[in-house]
Amino acid sequence: MGTKGKEIVGSKAEELVEMLNKALSDEWLAYYQYWVGSKVVSGPMKGEVIAELTEHAADELRHAELLVTRIMQLGGKPVLSPEEWYKMTNCGYDAPENPYVKNILEQNIKGEQCAIEVYSKLLEFTSKFDLITHGIVLEILKDEVEHEDDLQAILEDMQSMRSGG
Ligand code: FE
Ligand code: FE
Ligand code: MG
Repeated sequence: MGTKGKEIVGSKAEELVEMLNKALSDEWLAYYQYWVGSKVVSGPMKGEVIAELTEHAADELRHAELLVTRIMQLGGKPVLSPEEWYKMTNCGYDAPENPYVKNILEQNIKGEQCAIEVYSKLLEFTSKFDLITHGIVLEILKDEVEHEDDLQAILEDMQSMRSGG
């Protein structure tokens, strides 16, 4: 990014880059969790679940793209190796050891809830000094809120199907 563009972010740039790299690590882990989950998932409404997981995986990859672009603009260095994802992640990784639909949905809901917290904090942090990152974070946060909602809706459909209601 140009000098003036960096200047407006000021002294918090380094701390911000660190936070964005942590979020970038989360996004890669979330991407893989959705992607591999979509391959192994089994059980009722499987088709619908696969479609949703695949769509969310693509969204997480797009979030990683948005974050890395901003990290570069800020003069930062993005996380370069997958080992760092585990060291830097806020939300961790939940391997879909149990491929049953309900289990996979619950694991990913937990991940989304963590992501919502992370981006809410980033939204607040950036609100006073970097409205560009703020706007990017808001865009991502909107997706994470939608992701949680979508997964919970499928889970509710499944439960009402079982109870015959
Ligand atoms: Fe995401
Ligand atoms: Fe998400
Ligand atoms: Mg969705």
